[in-house]
Parts: sequence; C-alpha cells; structure tokens
Amino acid sequence: MPRKGKVYLVGAGPGSPDFLTVKAGKILTEAEVVLYDQLAGGVRDLLPDSAELIDCGKSGSRHTLEQDEIERIMVERARAGKQVVRLKGGDPFLFGRGGEELEALREAGIPVELVPGVTSAIAVPGCVGIPVTHRSHASEVVILTGHEDPGKEGSVLDWDLLAGFRGTIVILMGVKNLASIASGLVDRGKDPATPVAIIERGLAPGQRVTTGPLGEIGDVATRAGVKPPAVIVIGEVAGLYRGEELCGAKE
Ligand code: SAH
Repeated sequence: MPRKGKVYLVGAGPGSPDFLTVKAGKILTEAEVVLYDQLAGGVRDLLPDSAELIDCGKSGSRHTLEQDEIERIMVERARAGKQVVRLKGGDPFLFGRGGEELEALREAGIPVELVPGVTSAIAVPGCVGIPVTHRSHASEVVILTGHEDPGKEGSVLDWDLLAGFRGTIVILMGVKNLASIASGLVDRGKDPATPVAIIERGLAPGQRVTTGPLGEIGDVATRAGVKPPAVIVIGEVAGLYRGEELCGAKE
C-alpha cells in the first residue's frame, strides 16, 4: 500500500520564524513539498534539504503561480503520497485564500490538516502596544481587506455601517487605498479626529509606525512614503500608541 499523502494548511505567523507555532515548526521539519508565498529566512532553515520548494510568490497583485495551478500541484503531490505543506503568512484562513484551497482539496478527496497561525491583524498592532480591544476603548473589532474601496461601484463592504462602527477597524492590504478609505469613512460621518496607526513590516527589521487623525492620514501616509505590507488600525485604541516595541523587532 502506498503511503497516503496529506496537505497541511499552515500559518507561518507574521513574518519572523520566532512567531511560528511549535506545531508549524514540527510539520515543516517533516515536509516533503512546501508551497510558499514568501519564505522567511529562518523558516527555510527548518526544512529538510530534500524538500521540494515551490514559490507561489504572492505579494500584492503579483502572482508567480495562479491559484488553480497552486491547487493542482497540491492535489497532484498529495496523490503521489507526499506530505505537502501549504505555508501562508499569518493565519491561513484570514485573507489567504485558505478557504478556497480547503474546498479544492476536499473536492479532490485529499486529507487536510489545518495549523492556525498568529495573525498579523492582531499581532502587528499588539507588538507596538496597540491592543485591538480594550475595556475602556473598544469592545469589538472588525478586520477588512483594503482591496475594497468606498469609491468602488458595488463594494462588498457596507461603508455606512463601518463609518458608524464604534469598535476598532483593522485593515490589511490597505496601503494603496488608504486615502480613499479614510475620506470615504469621514464622508459617511466618521469623526475625522479618530486616531489611526499604520504599522509597516511588523515584527520584522525595519518596522515603522506612522500615526495621524483619520481626516489627515491619507496625506500623512503619502508624505511618509508608507509602503506595504502594513496593518492599519482605525479607532481609539490607535491613540494608545506610545512609541513602544514589545516583541523584539530590531531596526
Ligand atoms: N493571512 C495573513 C494576512 C494575509 S493578507 C494574516 O493572517 O496575517 C496580507 C496582508 O497582511 C498584508 O498586505 C498586510 O496588510 C498584512 N501583513 C502581514 N504580515 C505583516 C507584517 N509583518 N507587517 C505588516 N503587515 C503585515
């Protein structure tokens, strides 16, 4: 009987291998095939030399491999009896297309194991001293993709609801549309004085935080030359930023 292949959907955490889970580390040391989007240096060191590494190269809108090609390779290698790791930044099920990959694998009858990861949406603000909830400031949090912009016809997001939301708004992939998101929220009634913090390259060398009120953040970010990847936090908790670095990211 040939050994049965399996696909592990693994969250790599927000960049540095220090924030991999113990389980992710263990699975990586036993991987036969690894499909990755970005491979942090220390993660590569965990992989056996014999592992086949496949660069899926997703960053922003650039894709080395198309989604259906990624799914096809996973299915094919698993059917050949391999232990396949699909490694994704942060948590696989938060804006990582992990949900789609699970469906494709399910449909192909491939066994799947999920290894949740530390998500950038919570860890990146946390590491600069911004808790996404706080008893005195926010009792709810919403996480959005910044690929949706309030100016876009038929946006799938309810921007009126978000403008009235009293909790914390965390935006991933939002650098490009930040100015239009900020003005869209203000136009719909959100207080332009609402604090905003933008954390670039969180938990990694070169981490940088830029802050400003919602009404000015578009200009502030442009002047500062803010670039992806960044997590944007809108809400009172962003005002708690005190210039701290709590997770050991080095310049
Ligand atoms: N599944 C991932 C998110 C994928 S979307 C997770 O759970 O973290 C990719 C976006 O995540 C980036 O555009 C950026 O907004 C954010 N991101 C991921 N890692 C980051 C980091 N180290 N610093 C800042 N932003 C990061």
